[in-house]
Amino acid sequence: MLKSHRIALRPTAEQESRFAQHAGYARFAYNWALGEFQAGLEVGEWLTERTLRPRWNRVKGMIAPWGRELSQNAAKYAIIDFGQSAENWGEYRRKVKAGRRQGRRVGFPRFKRRKHEQGFRADNGPGTVKVDGRVVILPRIGWVAMVEELRFAGSIREVTINRTAGTWFASFCVEDGQELPPVKEGPTIGVDVGVGTMATCSDGMVVENPKALTSGLKKLRRVDRAIARSRKVHGKGNHSKRRERLQARRRRLHARVVNVRNDNHHKATTAIAKSAGRVVVETLNVTGMIRNRRLARAVADAGMSGFLTRLEYKCLWYGAEYVKADRWFASSKLCAHCRWRNEDLTLSERAWWCGGCGVLNNRDYNAALNLSNWPGLSFPVTGRGDRVRPAAPAVACEASREPGPGVWAPAKLEYQISSDSR
Ligand SMILES: [Zn+2]
Repeated sequence: MLKSHRIALRPTAEQESRFAQHAGYARFAYNWALGEFQAGLEVGEWLTERTLRPRWNRVKGMIAPWGRELSQNAAKYAIIDFGQSAENWGEYRRKVKAGRRQGRRVGFPRFKRRKHEQGFRADNGPGTVKVDGRVVILPRIGWVAMVEELRFAGSIREVTINRTAGTWFASFCVEDGQELPPVKEGPTIGVDVGVGTMATCSDGMVVENPKALTSGLKKLRRVDRAIARSRKVHGKGNHSKRRERLQARRRRLHARVVNVRNDNHHKATTAIAKSAGRVVVETLNVTGMIRNRRLARAVADAGMSGFLTRLEYKCLWYGAEYVKADRWFASSKLCAHCRWRNEDLTLSERAWWCGGCGVLNNRDYNAALNLSNWPGLSFPVTGRGDRVRPAAPAVACEASREPGPGVWAPAKLEYQISSDSR
């Protein structure tokens, strides 16, 4: 199994400038590849990463002689990365032309700038990076201190160094040499994800968003507004010390919000995947989630798909079957007890009285129950219609109360600087 772990680093000033040099080299190679690619397009030629890399190797000594003493993998993987984003864009264009566009819009690759993201691939192939306790040894850079030890033992496949809100991180990808476990016996758990409540499970577990996240998002919105105001008053292009400070604050807030959220996700998805034999989730309509300029809103949306991504691989790790109910399954509108359909249900209604059997349904819990009884589970053959009404769940009367006793509260939510998977 491939596992990843992102760890904050404590580089010396010298190492930091070494990181910046490598990031600069990667950026330079990426931008060079983009320039070549554009020039190619103009004469009707589609340059792939396989053509670009040998070309880069021929010219790099002339156009970037300063990169000679840096790790060449930084540039190599930047070009491979570029090739991938060009492919994604091409794929998207083909779909649009064929009239079967789906998913998010994919833009043409853009030139990277120093003030955006800084990062590079630091390994020179599998086995070229070693860790020793809280120290990582990187080719061409040397010993760098880490804030914690690498969580997984095994061979280190990839190491990426990048910077978020002023802190440098190393992301490790480790092959731990273990096989995936077989699917275990256990209950079928329906999981309804949302924005207000992160997730509600049919076994009564509720994953609330931690307070630190809600307050962080609120602060983020406030800073967003202050930046917008400053732009309006002083003009977008005019330099302002105050706005610069606000932007730095926004980056820090954003990093913290993401950390708190990820930590919460990891703990909750592990708990679900460990206790279930099978997990049923709804299929999110990603295209429907409008790309939003405002960071705070985008973070909330990213939260839902991020939760499901993690839940999916945790299910793999802990031997639970992961099932996506089909997109048109009306998990919120159906009464889980009598299958009466509430056509008038609005998005803001958190609870509703069933017109068929009269129970008060908690919106999220009802949806989770429906997912755990998704008809597709008992009828793998689709398009046959409702042959038999799925049995009412055993916990039928529970729905009129608040979701069961097992309210899941994140135990420990202080600032966790590095968390990727656990
Ligand atoms: Zn009902």
